[in-house]
Amino acid sequence: MELWYTEKQTDSYGITAKITETYVSEQTDFQKLDMIETEEFGTMLVLDGMVMTTDKDEFVYHEMVAHPALYTHPNPKHVLVVGGGDGGVIREILKHPEVEKAVLVDIDGKVIEYSKKYLPNIASGLDDPRVEVIVNDGFMHIHDHKNAYDVIMVDSTEPVGPAVNLFTRGFYQGIYDALKEDGIFVAQTDNPWFKADLIESVNRDVKEVFPIVRVYWANVPTYPSGLWTFTLGSKKHDPLAVNESSIPEIDTKYYSPRLHKAAFALPKFVEDLVK
Ligand code: SAM
Repeated sequence: MELWYTEKQTDSYGITAKITETYVSEQTDFQKLDMIETEEFGTMLVLDGMVMTTDKDEFVYHEMVAHPALYTHPNPKHVLVVGGGDGGVIREILKHPEVEKAVLVDIDGKVIEYSKKYLPNIASGLDDPRVEVIVNDGFMHIHDHKNAYDVIMVDSTEPVGPAVNLFTRGFYQGIYDALKEDGIFVAQTDNPWFKADLIESVNRDVKEVFPIVRVYWANVPTYPSGLWTFTLGSKKHDPLAVNESSIPEIDTKYYSPRLHKAAFALPKFVEDLVK
């Protein structure tokens, strides 16, 4: 008998992946957590029925959350990741030698625990001496840490369940206050095919808080529609003002000095959402 995992991305559309094994299927204090083995994408973390990351395509998203902001900020020493319990963004942050401390704040310790066990390549950086892992609500953490970080990355689930507060105007103001005077913030902001209204509302809210706001995109095949956006807010440094020749070639498979600015060239129907 064949077993398939189907993610309903809208009420009438989804993706389906053939499963070879189920490692974990558990209701945590915050969400339903499934860790499954798929033929096409390898080990897959699913939270509340939504694909979070897979062994095969994880590098796209994690590189694109981390590197544009870290190569825009001239000297990112202290970095915060809100969410990101699988460890992928932390692994990418550690490729920047100037980063002295990377703090991860995920509300659900089970995501961290199971990612270390079943996604070791993605979670490889969580035990690095430069990393501090905190199990807490990111919304609370940023309000308790003013003027503390050079870069803040929000690698949260979609605005449902524990992540609802992470897509609000108040949260972006909290982010602004938790950043230093030339800080940069970036968040994953879903897809323009099924969540255009979210991209529009986040862009509007972030523009009310930050003087520089840029949106970029990447192809993540296992995320809804495959076209994934990121919204960057900056107090001072513009990612489009970066001299590509100053960006080194590092160990990546998607991000590159050539792609740094190219990723901000949006398809017209996405441009129209964020004008
Ligand atoms: N890359 C994925 C995406 O774009 O949907 C996100 C992956 S990461 C595993 C999402 C994490 O956000 C989860 O581990 C979840 O526990 C965490 N999270 C959700 N709400 C949170 C909150 N309020 N504070 C901290 N972490 C939160």
